[in-house]
Amino acid sequence: MERVAIIKIENDNVYDAVKKAIEAAEQPDLSSGDTVIVKPNLCAPKPYDSGVITNIEVIKAVCKYLVEEMNVKTFVGDMPIVGWDPKEVYQELRIKEEVEKVGAQFLDFSEEEFIKIEVPDGKKLKSVKILKRAFEVDGIISLPVMKNHFLTGVTLSIKNLKGLIAQDQRTKIHVLGLHEPIVDLFQALKNQIKYAIVDGTYAANQVKPSGPYYGPIEPGEIVKMNLIIAGRDPVAVDAVTSRVMGFDPKKIKIISIAAERCLGEIEDIEVVGEEAKPIKKFKPSFTGRIISFVSRIWASRMLNPLLHPFAKKLYGPQMVTLSKAQKEVGEGKKGTVILVGECDGCGVCVKSCKVNNIQLVDGKPIIGDKCIKCFICVEVCPKSALAIQ
Ligand code: SF4
Ligand code: SF4
Repeated sequence: MERVAIIKIENDNVYDAVKKAIEAAEQPDLSSGDTVIVKPNLCAPKPYDSGVITNIEVIKAVCKYLVEEMNVKTFVGDMPIVGWDPKEVYQELRIKEEVEKVGAQFLDFSEEEFIKIEVPDGKKLKSVKILKRAFEVDGIISLPVMKNHFLTGVTLSIKNLKGLIAQDQRTKIHVLGLHEPIVDLFQALKNQIKYAIVDGTYAANQVKPSGPYYGPIEPGEIVKMNLIIAGRDPVAVDAVTSRVMGFDPKKIKIISIAAERCLGEIEDIEVVGEEAKPIKKFKPSFTGRIISFVSRIWASRMLNPLLHPFAKKLYGPQMVTLSKAQKEVGEGKKGTVILVGECDGCGVCVKSCKVNNIQLVDGKPIIGDKCIKCFICVEVCPKSALAIQ
């Protein structure tokens, strides 16, 4: 059984509520000295109490807890929605200065390396360009804001992972239907996602599209929910949060697909703290309903070629046809890892493989069949004993 904590914020003391939630739900599976990326939602330069981006007080509270209570080296980072200049967004949000106040380090994703990985068993996404550091740290903590989304119903800890994908691949995820590709991404990252904490201080309802690429950034209503929801299982955390937002999690495609693929629990959940009952019925805006309808038609095999010119006119050159997207991310990645050189069985490659795909047998590395072709093992082997065939 998975455990999820719903903690009410008393007297605006966000740190207390975050600490209570993490300790009630069980701490993340991280050890002292480990390194972690905290991935909030910094999709656009919006106020921290707009319910559109993760509240800075929650980001700082989570970082303070990881640094002070768990001695975990903490990075914070996200890549805004396509169309926004990341550096302008980071500057406007003053995110670097704020997280450094609590001993964390800001990670400018626009300066980071993105690598193409394979998504074994991906339904729609067979490969994807993703933040390399996501596979170099010991874990990732997804820290979304509680927000309704006109395409996916809610955008919570699983959908929040989309910020780890290279900007030039984001729109391809949309034309591939969004829900399944997002779960494919979650599946590829599963071992690395150690925790999910939902910022429910302010939540955005009836969100309308706006901005350069019509992202979900205009709240029709900002709801002061005053909640922190936390747990080790992102599916369980999203299921419980959806209930609190008045949704049936089985009707939220991203959550139900993830549960069907046994990536997490949607029902057998022990809720501690407040009850997981609807507190407010969140719903899509009128514009959001229209965009959702058009988006489904545009992503359909039959009508995509017809609708693509309009989508490109509306959204710009980033928009590609379904067939082009399938060509780019619908195919796997070439190359396999092989042992070529003198290996002394040091095990560095084993530790570097974040999908636990390497075992040492009689002092020699055996590469398994879950490889995502990140090739980090080849890079880190001190003996250059591994190569890509
Ligand atoms: S890192 Fe290199 S030398 Fe060490 S066990 Fe792996 S293959 Fe062998
Ligand atoms: S075996 Fe190597 S290339 Fe494959 S997932 Fe592990 S670290 Fe990456």
